[in-house]
Amino acid sequence: MSMKNKMTISDIYFAGRRVIARVDFNVPLDKDGNITDDNRIVGALPTIRYLVENDAKVILVSHLGRPKNGPEAKFSMKPAAERLAQLLGRPVMLAADVIGPDAKAKAAALKNGEILMLENVRFHKEEEKNDPAFAKELASMAELFVNDAFGTAHRAHASTAGLADYLPAVCGFLIKKELDIMGKALDNPERPFVAILGGAKVSDKISVIESLLDKVDTLIIGGGMAYTFLKAQGHNVGKSLCELDRLELANELLAKAAAKNVKFLLPLDNVVAKEFKADAEAFAVDSTEIPDDCMGLDIGPKTIELFSAAIKEAKTVIWNGPPGVFEFEKFANGTRKIAEALANSGAISIVGGGDSAAAVEQLGFADKITHISTGGGASLEFLEGKDLPGISCLTEIPSGSCDCSSCSGCH
Ligand code: AMP
Repeated sequence: MSMKNKMTISDIYFAGRRVIARVDFNVPLDKDGNITDDNRIVGALPTIRYLVENDAKVILVSHLGRPKNGPEAKFSMKPAAERLAQLLGRPVMLAADVIGPDAKAKAAALKNGEILMLENVRFHKEEEKNDPAFAKELASMAELFVNDAFGTAHRAHASTAGLADYLPAVCGFLIKKELDIMGKALDNPERPFVAILGGAKVSDKISVIESLLDKVDTLIIGGGMAYTFLKAQGHNVGKSLCELDRLELANELLAKAAAKNVKFLLPLDNVVAKEFKADAEAFAVDSTEIPDDCMGLDIGPKTIELFSAAIKEAKTVIWNGPPGVFEFEKFANGTRKIAEALANSGAISIVGGGDSAAAVEQLGFADKITHISTGGGASLEFLEGKDLPGISCLTEIPSGSCDCSSCSGCH
């Protein structure tokens, strides 16, 4: 997947034109509806500011949460629109609907540089079905489509891909940055190139492991997924997470790593407990000695040293998934130490979304990381080498002369 040949926001002439921009304002809210983390809104600011400064009539569209039954106040875009207005220091109008009369009237009345936020696009079930009639209705409000929602770029929904069937489509600055940084790391990494994978299941990450084995010098596996590999190597893993139907595959992956001269690092020791509980009694044991009645819930001190040393030597590191049950303080040490090792390394460091990104941010290391991806699932699919529908739908840069009347070359 690459951005080569795809048009970006810099290729388009916006003045006086209605632009529908898909952003990822799927922000976490507390029980009173207050935004607890506005990183995703902040991530879209460069694109929104650029559109405003270039005199576009800006129509923003996003989803928030998982509404299942049409419009519901608790899933309204209102808090996100208000936060955006604060961050920009200019008004952001909110439509009462998505493709209804209020949205259409407000979109039609927009003046240059004004911003309208549509209501939650998932109030329509047609969104996730990528329904063409729905995409067409959305598209009818605008003349151009800018996709800047990296977090949903791996989904073929009406507002992430369908719009491109009806409008010239370009990516915004956030998507461009995500793909530039991750693309360079994968295609032309400074070496040694180390990948750290964690999280719960091997089955979720098989294709990522396979794809990374072709690129990295060292692959580090921690978290619940490590135990399937330890079991495949003949160790007793007690009650740890283990996918018995993947043992053969685990052995194949280990053999593939050996054949490719990729160092494959697994936990040497583990913090184990008898129960999956925040206050369970915890102690460290070597991977060769996990008791039958215990489960591994974090990497142990020897493993932290082993993994940290590999990170210290690296010139490029990609990290996706926590090496322990970091939600429980007793089992968060491994995740903390990996985040710390990454922050202190001189390597180009890329943290791929979701839990590991949250960990890095909570621990205060975010500013020492080269790039924290805004898309968990999307960055994982990108690492797998898959096509992301929100990117592949974008308009190709015309070869030869152009008369599209949209691009900057035509103005
Ligand atoms: P994923 O969504 O696959 O990246 O998995 C993230 C989840 O993996 C987090 O909720 C962690 O608590 C969980 N996890 C990490 N290590 C372990 C482990 N050793 N046993 C069980 N769950 C784990």
